Amino acid sequence: MKIGVLGIQGDIQEHLKMIEKLGHEAIWVKRPEQLNKLSGLIMPGGESTTMIKLMKRFGVWEPLHQMLWNGFPVYGTCAGLVLLASEIENYPNQDSLKALPVKVERNGYGRQVDSFEVELNIPVLGDQLFNAVFIRAPIIVKWDKSVEVLSIYKKAPVLVRHDNILASSFHPELTEDTRIHEYFINEIVGKAGRWQNLGSKAPKT
Ligand code: GLN
Repeated sequence: MKIGVLGIQGDIQEHLKMIEKLGHEAIWVKRPEQLNKLSGLIMPGGESTTMIKLMKRFGVWEPLHQMLWNGFPVYGTCAGLVLLASEIENYPNQDSLKALPVKVERNGYGRQVDSFEVELNIPVLGDQLFNAVFIRAPIIVKWDKSVEVLSIYKKAPVLVRHDNILASSFHPELTEDTRIHEYFINEIVGKAGRWQNLGSKAPKT
């Protein structure tokens, strides 16, 4: 399958490598016309405010927003989760794609120096724990009951799924463990079928 990585800013290479390791075609995505050719997209960590600015400048923001609302599979990690969230508690005026009904607190797990690793239990991936790296990560402080919580750390969801969307507050691409990418590709992208362009149903960002 063709899986894109939004390649505007952030840890892009690591995600591309993971996709290739799993035997799929990895596409570095920068232009809006590339989106239509993909089966799914990963939005990496980075700086969400910079990413928003550049996505708008490159013309990727609006088409992606529409596609998300029409079932296009997207996995957002860290800043990618901030971009997908419907609300940002501590930056209420920051724009977002509003495709995932969660409220996040940006940098909620602390600053760069507070970065940490934990072994997470993620039942959908089997018994083996997952080494998760958190870097200035957002905390999910509220979530709609329609959101499927796939892993929890200190009472907050850290890996969630909502239909075509997967999001984690940590960075799975920084380890050798490909299981989350595999889950996204096999369980979400693989089972999504062809997403449909249903027109402009998406609420305004
Ligand atoms: N703190 C960043 C933001 O809110 C996210 C950090 C990351 O992606 N590692 O944009």
